[in-house]
Amino acid sequence: MRTSLAYIGLGSNLATPRRQVATALDELDTLPLCRVTAASRLYASRPVGPQDQPDFVNAVAALETALSPLALLDQLQALEQRHRRRRERRWGPRTLDLDILLFDATTVVRPRLKVPHPEMHRRAFVLRPLREIDPHLTLHGQPLGRWLDGLDDDVTPLS
Ligand code: AMP
Repeated sequence: MRTSLAYIGLGSNLATPRRQVATALDELDTLPLCRVTAASRLYASRPVGPQDQPDFVNAVAALETALSPLALLDQLQALEQRHRRRRERRWGPRTLDLDILLFDATTVVRPRLKVPHPEMHRRAFVLRPLREIDPHLTLHGQPLGRWLDGLDDDVTPLS
């Protein structure tokens, strides 16, 4: 079976965001035709935009998958929905965001899906965990460290 390597960005700023992200990493491994081959540590980052919200916990996973990019997006959105439903029932507002950062060397430009993720080169909370699991990766022809050089890097590993 032909497989691809996708990198997935995870983020949460719920009351127990570490658990949310850790659980989501496990759940990624249970998606159909998907296998997590590497996962970064968890990182804490300041929110982008409005600052009157909790800090985020972020991580990146490498996912071997036989799904197409759009079928993978469907699976990730269903996983986000399962987390949303759970949190609405129990402890109030929480979030889980899952982004497809890269999908092999494929470029996707569709209304629902843009790959490489159009914001990732501006986000230290994506680039730092991504570099941890693949230090040799390049993005738009440049090493990840080069993209990080120009950024406010207030992203810290959690233990
Ligand atoms: P947000 O949850 O605010 O990050 O945005 C989710 C929306 O972004 C969804 O409607 C997706 O269809 C769209 N989207 C576009 N490109 C991507 C991507 N690479 N990964 C995840 N969602 C994406």
